[in-house]
Amino acid sequence: MITLPGLIDPHAHLREPGATHKEDWDSGTTAALAGGFTQVLAMPNTQPPVTDGDTLALALTAARYKARCDYAQYLGAGPHNMDELAPLADRSAGLKIYLDQTYGELRLNDMGLCLAHFARWPRHMPIVAHAEGRSLAAVILLSALYDRPLHLAHVSRREEILLIRAARQRGMKVTCEVTPHHLFLTQNDLSSGRGEVRPRLATAADRDALWGKLEVIDCFATDHAPHTLAEKDGPNPPPGFPGLETALPLFLTAVSEGRLTMDDLIRRMATNPRRIFNLPEQAETWIEVLPDESWEIRAENTLTRCAWTPFEGWQVRGRLRRVVLRGSEVFRQGQILAPMGTGKNIREGRVENRE
Ligand SMILES: [Zn+2]
Repeated sequence: MITLPGLIDPHAHLREPGATHKEDWDSGTTAALAGGFTQVLAMPNTQPPVTDGDTLALALTAARYKARCDYAQYLGAGPHNMDELAPLADRSAGLKIYLDQTYGELRLNDMGLCLAHFARWPRHMPIVAHAEGRSLAAVILLSALYDRPLHLAHVSRREEILLIRAARQRGMKVTCEVTPHHLFLTQNDLSSGRGEVRPRLATAADRDALWGKLEVIDCFATDHAPHTLAEKDGPNPPPGFPGLETALPLFLTAVSEGRLTMDDLIRRMATNPRRIFNLPEQAETWIEVLPDESWEIRAENTLTRCAWTPFEGWQVRGRLRRVVLRGSEVFRQGQILAPMGTGKNIREGRVENRE
């Protein structure tokens, strides 16, 4: 058995408020603990989206009663809310800017609006961008113009990882994350509806380029984005995969195959996200893993409400045995022991650490 730090997922969609038939703060943080995550940062494209004080309060109230692991909530950049967001920044995980198509309506089509958010959002709080291809180049330029850190969500293509590497070589303050599905799946792997995800699954050459540029990847983020099977197999399949419960076993399998070291895993699933998002250490918090246990991923054994996985039937090596959060056993051998409300808001009462 080996002990690792509690994992951090900087990118999860917990679907509450608004779509609790897919997931909510209870089932989503249950899935997080079952995947070894003790801190999750929740995305703002809910219904309604989290774009002001009222919707932030709505999300955080649900979280306070239901969450079983620690959490923070992102604010979404909209066309008119740049002035409203700045005073809320310290209570949020960070600002999320959507420059490309995704699930929900939080998309900024105008670079001028994006510029206004960069100008007003407090410098000491993170900005995360969903930007693909040319929008990625554009948002890196904005971060350089404002000389402030930028985190790039779910990088999926060769040209993107090369662009990020080049920006970093010029001293630009950009960091990035890659999802397990872009590292382990390609566009040929899933049938049409179930395979819908944004960014889309890419080619084997893109996937191999990500593995080949591992040193450029700061974080592994799940982009856990649950939809029900009825929705995925229906006439308008929404984009997104669940991922909280499959990320750790997939990366442990990569460790067992020698594609990754355990240090690589810890850096990308704990150390780096803690630094990039300025998250507090969790006292007396760790996870226990059986690195040699082989098992098969099956949706029927997962705890996410959406009840399916794109990795159905995959043979993996390495299993989560136990999670201890702030001194309490919260997960053991498939059983969740943390009651609802165990999770704390990471940004509440924190000591401010301004630049
Ligand atoms: Zn996402």
